[in-house]
Amino acid sequence: MELLTIGAFAKASRLSPKALRLYDELGLLTPARVDPDTGYRRYAPGQLEQARLVAWLRRLGMPLARIRRVCAMEPGEAAGEIRAYWARVEADTAARRDLAAFLVDHLTGKDPAMSRTTAPLTLRYAALSDTGLVRASNQDTAYAGSRLLAVADGYGTGGALAGAAAVDALRSLESETVPAGDLLGALEDALGRAEQAVHGVTSPGDDGADADAGTTLTAMLWTGSQLALVHIGDSRVHLLRDGELFQITHDHTVVQSLIDEGRLTPEEAVSHPQRSLLIRALGRGADSTPDLRLHDARAGDRYLLCSDGLSTVVPAEDVHRVLADTPGPEDAVRELVDLANASGGPDNVSCVVADVSAPA
Ligand code: MG
Repeated sequence: MELLTIGAFAKASRLSPKALRLYDELGLLTPARVDPDTGYRRYAPGQLEQARLVAWLRRLGMPLARIRRVCAMEPGEAAGEIRAYWARVEADTAARRDLAAFLVDHLTGKDPAMSRTTAPLTLRYAALSDTGLVRASNQDTAYAGSRLLAVADGYGTGGALAGAAAVDALRSLESETVPAGDLLGALEDALGRAEQAVHGVTSPGDDGADADAGTTLTAMLWTGSQLALVHIGDSRVHLLRDGELFQITHDHTVVQSLIDEGRLTPEEAVSHPQRSLLIRALGRGADSTPDLRLHDARAGDRYLLCSDGLSTVVPAEDVHRVLADTPGPEDAVRELVDLANASGGPDNVSCVVADVSAPA
């Protein structure tokens, strides 16, 4: 087999000799032979395809270690790896896009703490939490107050304490006057307090607590026209607007990551043995990075915050129907909890429903 000089190989692969030398140094594309005396690199024609693949993957922004792995794979497997990589990039970008939107709103005076000329909207709300029919105790917490809506789903021994402590820490926001323009800062501080509170009740050695305990936390802070959303874990927020139901949170679960990466279909996820395994939570050793969003509320909006005890057993169509057909928040939460229990009630179930309306 005739080996190509680096110049000929560079021309054939449309890469510069400089790039090829770099790929060699990085271990991404090793020449077929290096002359021991002159150090000249020689390449086999069969390496052209790999050289181009490396160039494209570099252009995609893939880290070097991952490029090395992809290059060692069969084409089918490599395709799966690239798909997974890109899904992760898009998920990260989406999270940063939300934060960017939050900051843009915040800096352009859309911040709700600043003065607004429009009449404030009003909020009607109800919360209900139920043990369900199988579990011995209720580790969920559901809360609805004039400014805060929250659901927390505790896990592990002491999980109930963890969820309650997290929600309790956020409740300070209800009485706090959020300084103009510092909603994000106030939320961050409150989350810090929530995390400390969870660590406080789950420290190893305490009665009824263990190191693996923690909680999800999904909450909305009402500001009179907007809802600041804080979300960690697999509790959810749904919005019923103009008759349509939207899920406005993204689950922080292993299974959701597999769906995002195209490795699992939503249908397969339903019966996945690890469907409740969290990749983010409030607890010791857990990634507690929150998703933060600032959400413009409209008169007529109905929000549902719920723990997985509802979403796991009650199909989205049924949730949609109940939210659309049940007039008051109190009846809506009752109806939803009853539906979960009618489906076996395998888990604790919590619902918070809040209706936004224009003042009469
Ligand atoms: Mg649960």
